[in-house]
Amino acid sequence: MNTLSDLREKTGQGGIILAKADELLNWARLSSMWPLSFGLACCAIEMMGSYASGYDLDRFGVIPRASPRQADVMIVAGTVTFKMADRLRRLYDQMAEPRYVISMGSCSNCGGPYWQHGYHVVKGVDRIVPVDVYVPGCPPRPEALIGGFLKLQEKMRSEQPLPPLLAKALGRKAV
Ligand code: SF4
Repeated sequence: MNTLSDLREKTGQGGIILAKADELLNWARLSSMWPLSFGLACCAIEMMGSYASGYDLDRFGVIPRASPRQADVMIVAGTVTFKMADRLRRLYDQMAEPRYVISMGSCSNCGGPYWQHGYHVVKGVDRIVPVDVYVPGCPPRPEALIGGFLKLQEKMRSEQPLPPLLAKALGRKAV
């Protein structure tokens, strides 16, 4: 994990740090992911456990938000019913961009135990919103959710967020 003391060690007491703007943006983004927690069933209990002191997701800069306007990651933890599907999509559309989705648990990944006979259950939240990381399990343990966040960090690290941001600011399409 990058800390101020790491930077001091690399650069000496003063000096100049040279970095690509994309890398700098990514470093900041992946160290401050703010999830809109979408606890829908039993998986939500493990998600709540991940935020508590034993696992302390805050140490990764993962701080849950109650408003989609302040969130850039959605954790879908639990069973997605057809009744809930359009609410879920509406909240996703209200989130800040670039935005990401972590699908937590079998129900959210593919319908879980309701896969065959659950007439009311969506067979995978990726039919409603694009999913970036799937966390397997019924329910997944907090360690697995933390692993999901680490995977998402890897994905963010490989992105180039600056061109679309500049294009948006200039009112053009990103190339
Ligand atoms: S995946 Fe298992 S633990 Fe998670 S919501 Fe579905 S039934 Fe519950």
